[in-house]
Order: sequence, then C-alpha cells, then structure tokens
Amino acid sequence: MLPDVRQETRETLTARFKEWDVPHYRVDQLLHWLWPRRAASWDEMTNLPKALRESLAGTFSLGSLTLARKQGSRDTTQKFLWQLHDGAYVESVLIPANPALYGDRADRHTLCVSTQVGCAYGCRFCASGLDGWKRNLAPWEISGQVLAIERWNQSQPAAETPAPTAEGSTETATPTRAAASQPERLINNLVIMGMGEPLANYDNLLAALRSLNAPWGAHIGARKITISTSGVVPRIRQLGAEPEQFQLAISLHGATDEVRNRIMPINRKYPLAELTAACDDYVQRKGRMITLEYILIDGVNDARDQVQPLSQLARRLNAKVNLIPYNKVEGLEWSRPAEERCRAFASALEATDVVTTLRIEKGHDIDAACGQLRLRTEREISGQPAAQPSEQPG
Ligand code: SAH
Ligand code: SF4
Repeated sequence: MLPDVRQETRETLTARFKEWDVPHYRVDQLLHWLWPRRAASWDEMTNLPKALRESLAGTFSLGSLTLARKQGSRDTTQKFLWQLHDGAYVESVLIPANPALYGDRADRHTLCVSTQVGCAYGCRFCASGLDGWKRNLAPWEISGQVLAIERWNQSQPAAETPAPTAEGSTETATPTRAAASQPERLINNLVIMGMGEPLANYDNLLAALRSLNAPWGAHIGARKITISTSGVVPRIRQLGAEPEQFQLAISLHGATDEVRNRIMPINRKYPLAELTAACDDYVQRKGRMITLEYILIDGVNDARDQVQPLSQLARRLNAKVNLIPYNKVEGLEWSRPAEERCRAFASALEATDVVTTLRIEKGHDIDAACGQLRLRTEREISGQPAAQPSEQPG
C-alpha cells in the first residue's frame, strides 16, 4: 500500500516536488486541497496539472474513512462510527461548543478523536478495552477523522451546522457540492479522548497532531488540542519535552493508589507518586494548567473520604478537576451515582478551592462512553451477545 499523502509535511513534499522538477508553488496548492479544502480525490484538484496528479496518485494514496453509522442530531452530541480499510471500526464524537466552558461561538464544535482500534490498558470500567487492543491508527487515520467530519458537514444542506441523520444510516463522507475556496471550519477544539491510549501510539499521534496544528495543515492551535492519558509516565515526560503547547488531561479516577489499583491496571506499573511527578514536570515545562479527569462511579470513588486526597493532588499540581458521572457500559458492573451525590462531591471539592467542573455528560443516551458504539456494532455484526467483562492485559 502506498503511504498516505496526508502523512507528508510541507518539507517532505517540497523535497519530492524538487526531485520531480515541479515548481515550489504547487506544494502550497496541493496542501490547500488536502487540508482547508479537505479534498477526497485527486480529480478534485483541478488547478494541478494532470501529469502532476498522476505522479501523485502513483506515489501516494489518498485514503478516506467510511461512515458506517451515526447517532445523535443537530445541537446535540453526535457520534460517528468509521470503518477503516481493513474493516476495523473507530469512533469520533462531535460535541457542540459549550460557550460557558470554552468561551467559543455556539456554532463551533469540539471533536473527540480515537487513536487506536481497541485498547490494551484494560481499565475496568471502559468499553474500549473490552475486546483488547487490535492496532494503532496511522497518522492519517487520526487526522482523517477531523477531515471526514468537516467534509461530512460541508455535504449537509445547512452547511454551518450539522443536520440530523437517522440512527443506523449508512453514508460515505464525500462532499455532494463543490467546496468553497476556504470552507468554514466546524471543529475548533480537539480532545484526544476517543478509543485507545493516545500515548501508547505516540509517534503516529504526534505526526497527526503536527499536521492538524501546522499553518499549512488544519491550523488548529496546539492549545486547542487536549491529549488525555491514563498515565503512561515516560510518554508524559516525553510530551513535556516537545516544543508544542498541547494541553494535558490525566484520567485519574482515583486519588489514592488503593482506588486506582482497583479500576486501572496501569496504576500498578506507574503508581500515583510517579504519575504526579511526571505531571509536575509537564506543568513546570509548559507553564500551563493540566486537567484531572475524574469519573464518578457509584460506591467506588464517590465517597467524601476521596475529596481530601483529590483536593491535595489537584492543589499540588495546580490542576483543575473535571468530574464526569460514569456512563453505564452494558455488561459491566459499575454504575453512575445519583445526581445529588455527584453535586455534593463537586461542592465539597470546590469548597477546598479547587477549580471544579461537573460535566453532566452529553450523549449519555447514545453510547457516549468511549468504545461503546464500536463494540455494539462489532458484536451485532459477528452475532455475539452484548459486552461481557473479560480479563485484560495490564
Ligand atoms: N485512553 C485515554 C483516552 C481515551 S478514554 C485515557 O484513558 O485518558 C477518554 C476518557 O473517557 C477517559 O477519561 C476515560 O477514563 C473515560 N471513560 C471511559 N469509559 C467511560 C465511561 N463508561 N463513562 C465515562 N467516562 C469514561
Ligand atoms: Fe484505554 Fe483510556 Fe479506556 Fe483505559 S480509559 S481502557 S486507557 S481507552
């Protein structure tokens, strides 16, 4: 298989065009087609000479993700299930901007992107790891989720806001009308919180994020990109040493080793003391606040005695805390605490001077927790019963 052209950078394409004796300005024309105009075929690139298009097509592939299923409707969280060339599925979740949270225009959206097919980390509460890890996504399959949704949006009747599609419909993310020279952008925030552990696919993730961030690429600011990790300590340190100011979110979910060991196998390898030290290092290097994600799971980590250790950790790291009531996963034993209990936990934490948000999850009704739509679809296709807990690698 040929390498995908969206894995090239401006530098590598410049070198290639020089080899081919093609004038330099053609590089920018090509990049304009690939990124702002999100072209899905070489034929669309009408201002490139046919001979150049043929050379490109003989050297690179221009892959696309096929929309296998979509849930949700306009103004709500929408979930996209993509089928990849080898038949595997991954998900992306499009969340309408919350002006209170991000201060953005209400027509802007945050996209939650997947980085792996499945996940090897086996957090006990999570659907993504239930069937183990299948493979890493290539850089273009990561950035391609952004492009495919932007293209899908362009193809909708009202171009600027996504329109509803019936659940289970099948459509391919191909534009149905010509793109404007610089189409309006739908997505202005990225959260790398879909399926998979992003820092376990580090090189591909960084390559994808660099294209999404580059002025010649999707031009999404590094500060608008949040990478979420379950706590892969050496990679957190490596990310801290990169020049970009990516935002870091830690899936903490327990403020003591006892609680964390119970639900997150990774804590046995990198316990809280090591994780905290790596976070400290990240904060020092970047001079930016990090976020601690804390799912509230009934009877596991939602008792008042967890507030103090969580507060201590957050204050030491000068981090804000995102509390997220657990989304039930079919077949797993865990459940979401009552709303008053979540609110009480949030108030108690806030009272200790920790910046706290309680995110009553949007999309609770559409398998919003990561990995659920894919798991359900794969099991429907293979005729297996609903999700069952299984032994996971740690
Ligand atoms: N692997 C990375 C990123 C993907 S998971 C990580 O763990 O951070 C993205 C977030 O969704 C994590 O905080 C994860 O703990 C959370 N999550 C997983 N299953 C969930 C569920 N059922 N309900 C709510 N959040 C869940
Ligand atoms: Fe993997 Fe993150 Fe799910 Fe844990 S929470 S199993 S690291 S995707």
